[in-house]
This record gives sequence, C-alpha cells and structure tokens, in this order.
Amino acid sequence: MSVIPHLINGELVTETGRAVDVFNPSTGQAIHKLPLASQATIQKAIDAAKAAFPAWRNTPPAKRAQVMFRFKQLLEQNEARISQLISEEHGKTLEDAAGELKRGIENVEFACAAPEILKGEYSRNVGPNIDAWSDFQPLGIVAGITPFNFPAMVPLWMYPLAIVCGNCFILKPSERDPSSTLLIAQLLLEAGLPKGVMSVVHGDKTAVDALIEAPEVKALSFVGSTPIAEYIYAEGTKRGKRVQALGGAKNHAVLMPDADLDNAVSALMGAAYGSCGERCMAISVAVCVGDQVADALVAKLVPQIKALKIGAGTSCGLDMGPLVTGQARDKVSGYVDDGVAAGATLVVDGRGLSVTGHEEGFFLGGCLFDNVTPEMRIYKEEIFGPVLCVVRVNSLEEAMQLINDHEYGNGTCIFTRDGEAARLFCDEIEVGMVGVNVPLPVPVAYHSFGGWKRSLFGDLHAYGPDGVRFYTRRKAITQRWPQRASHEASQFAFPSL
Ligand code: NAD
Repeated sequence: MSVIPHLINGELVTETGRAVDVFNPSTGQAIHKLPLASQATIQKAIDAAKAAFPAWRNTPPAKRAQVMFRFKQLLEQNEARISQLISEEHGKTLEDAAGELKRGIENVEFACAAPEILKGEYSRNVGPNIDAWSDFQPLGIVAGITPFNFPAMVPLWMYPLAIVCGNCFILKPSERDPSSTLLIAQLLLEAGLPKGVMSVVHGDKTAVDALIEAPEVKALSFVGSTPIAEYIYAEGTKRGKRVQALGGAKNHAVLMPDADLDNAVSALMGAAYGSCGERCMAISVAVCVGDQVADALVAKLVPQIKALKIGAGTSCGLDMGPLVTGQARDKVSGYVDDGVAAGATLVVDGRGLSVTGHEEGFFLGGCLFDNVTPEMRIYKEEIFGPVLCVVRVNSLEEAMQLINDHEYGNGTCIFTRDGEAARLFCDEIEVGMVGVNVPLPVPVAYHSFGGWKRSLFGDLHAYGPDGVRFYTRRKAITQRWPQRASHEASQFAFPSL
C-alpha cells in the first residue's frame, strides 16, 4: 500500500506517526495510507508560506495570472488522470469526475483575470490637489479545509483566487480522497508557482486546530458539514480571523401542477441520484403541489430509479457508483430504516444492493420515499445519499413555508411554466441559490456560491466577486501633492470640501 505524502515548500514529504487508510469504495479495499499531520508539520507549511509571501505579494498580478493560464492548460491535459484518481477514491463515475474538474477549471479561468480583478478604485480631485484610491491587498497566509465530495472542484473554488490575490495558501483536503487534490496542486507548481506559496497537508482535527490556532493564518475557508463549519467559524473568528464556512444542505425541488413533468423527472433523477446523492446541491426533497402531481411524479420515477446503472465508478456508462465509505453507506441505510419506522412509504428500496464482481463495495441502490412529513428525521436531516423524499402540499405558499422553515438554505428550485409563481419563489424563498427549471443551480465562477441559514457561516460567499473580497483587504489611500509655491494654512476643523 503506498503512502500519500504532504506537499510542503515544493517538496513531497512523508511523515511517520498517525495515519488512516484511504479506500477504493468500489472494491471496499484500503489502497493507500495517509499520514495525519502533526502540529509541527503544519508549522513547516506555515514557515514556508511566511518565507514565500513577501516576494509573491510583490509579484505583478499579470505574472501571477500567467501561472494560472499554464495551470489551466495542465489541468485540461491531465483530465483523464485526475478523473481516474477522483473516481478511484470517491467512487463517483468518470464522467461525473470530469464534470467536477471542468467546473473547477472555471475558477482558474476567473483567476486568470487577476490584473482586472485587482485594479482597485480611483478618484481624482476628491479635494484640492487630492487624489484617492482603494487598493485590494492580500491578507498573507490563508488556509482552506475541504470535504470529500468534490476533491478537485471545491479546493479550486479557493486557492486559485486566493493565490492570484497575492496570498499564500495552505490546503487541508479531505482525508478520504486526497490523491487527485494532491496531483492538482503538483500541477500548479509545475505551472510555475514559487514553492511555499501553496502547500497541501493531510490530516484531521489536529491539523485543522493547528491552522485555527496559528496567528500567522489570517483567514480560513471551510466547506463541509454544518457542525464542523460552525465550530471552525466560532473558533476562527474568536481569534480574529476572517472565516467563510460553508455547511450542509437539504435542497427542495418544488413541482407545480403546470410543470413539464417529463423534463422535471429527468432533472430530478440526475439531481437526486447523481454522485450517489453526495452533493451539497443534490435535490433530496421533491415538494409536490397537489396529490395529482405527486402520484404522477412517483409513477414516473419508480421505473427510472429501478433502472439506475450502478457499479464501480471507474467503469464507463454508469449512472451511479458507491458511497464513499462503508460507514457512509451504513449511515444512509440507517436513515432508510428510520424513515420506514417513522411511517413514510418506502416506494423503492435500494438497501442490500450487491454489485457482481464488487461484492465488498460500499453500494446502495436508489431509494424513494413518499408521504414524508416535516417532523421525520429523513426530512429534517441531511442524509447525503441516494434517497429522495416526496412531500405533498396543497399550494405554492405551503411549499415555500416548508422550505423557509427548514434549518438549511443552500439550494432550491422550482419546476413550473408560470412566470408569476417563479418570480414570487425567487423573491421570497430563504435560500442562497435558486433554480427555475434548473435542478442544480450551482453558480458559474463569476457569480459567488453560498447558502443561507445554517448552510453558511460568515458574510461572504465562496469564489467569484465575494471570493475576491474575502481574500483581499481594502486600503484607502488619500494623496496630496500641493502645487509648487503654494502654502496652505493649518486647518483645525474636520477636513471637508
Ligand atoms: P466533514 O465536515 O466531515 O469534513 C470536512 C473537512 O473538515 C475535512 O477536511 C475534514 O478532515 C475536516 N474535519 C472533520 N471533522 C473535523 C473536526 N472535528 N474538526 C476539524 N476539522 C474536521 O464533511 P465531509 O463528510 O467531508 O463532506 C460532506 C459535507 O460537506 C456535507 O454535509 C455536505 O453538504 C457538505 N458540503 C457543503 C458544500 C457547500 O458548498 N455548502 C459543498 C460540499 C460539501
């Protein structure tokens, strides 16, 4: 079994001590050992970043952008290799892995605009002979802590932008599928990034706590589950750090009686079961307005769920792979047991699925519940698996109230042909990302990504314009060059025009 190294100061570093296994979820076998960074290892990454920062902060933004242009090219050239690594450790299909990489590359493209992004704002003659401007300056060392479900895309939401803004970055990826994340960081160094500007350290709570506690780390970007997001936000802000912490989700799709049902069903199949439901924007609740819509939806979904092609993610032409770990599979299965016990109607049961040739893999078939009610755990909690719950309501207003009352507010969508209903939904729904006939409204890289309520802790969303603000601090400079031979008298009143 190979050992996955850290990447610190441009060097691959192995560490003895605490370690965990990384599994191939399709076979159920441990394939790598992953060292868990000690506090001393984190300090090495911090020291490397500290040494690299002065030169990097003074590197012209256009030169920083040139690294990103080369990085984009390398990512595209290595798409097959990266997708294979993602699929081997996460379990998602190769096509899905390639899709997440493409969405990640969008963020590299956005970062290529560094000279434009960092132009600042300028006002001439704000007073006699006085000019003023606002600079966007880097924070220094910033860190990112990322989840297992998008090992390529979510880190790419963070560091390309942080780095072109002049910061040094320390990434602590998920310990469950770190190989693609590491390879991508190596490609960034190959693209010409000076060593020390970006390090990757593997680890668990010890590593994360060391980053939170280090006074040199000025900001933390986190994406993961809500309890950890809340913890990192509280601990980071307590220490005066800037923190954006994106958490869990329970995303509802509203189906109106006038919706194009066939299109809605196709959209829901991908949004609920794609990537085995392990997406923070996965649709896990279908809210049907009227029994007729619900009956028709369930009738159309059942044969399609039963026909899902499920197997090892690295095989071609599949709809769904396994869940990421045996523990994740058992947890999701437990939710299905719980839903049955609570009285929901289990219309399709994916428990006990065995895939020929991969009997030890962490597979679970697609599950569908009907007649789910808001007090059930399967409705309230994030399941993070291939389980779709149908909730029946009588009106759009009731559907919106349900969504607004939920503790999470990451994504949502409405299927309708009624512009008035769609407009009301967009205006009044308390969710950060909204789709109209679009099931997974993940914003493109030049709009920012973020949920509301307990799906995000912090003021600024991820990437795009909010990302620029997060990774820079403003400096407002006011400058006067008196005209030759003029002398201005002292002024004791507060300066004004
Ligand atoms: P997780 O919270 O278990 O782990 C996320 C990161 O936090 C990992 O790097 C992990 O090592 C670290 N971590 C775990 N326990 C920790 C602890 N006690 N102290 C400090 N750090 C700790 O999440 P996950 O299972 O990897 O990912 C799935 C979750 O992420 C889901 O809840 C999903 O909704 C969420 N997610 C949210 C978004 C979003 O944009 N809102 C995007 C992707 C995933």
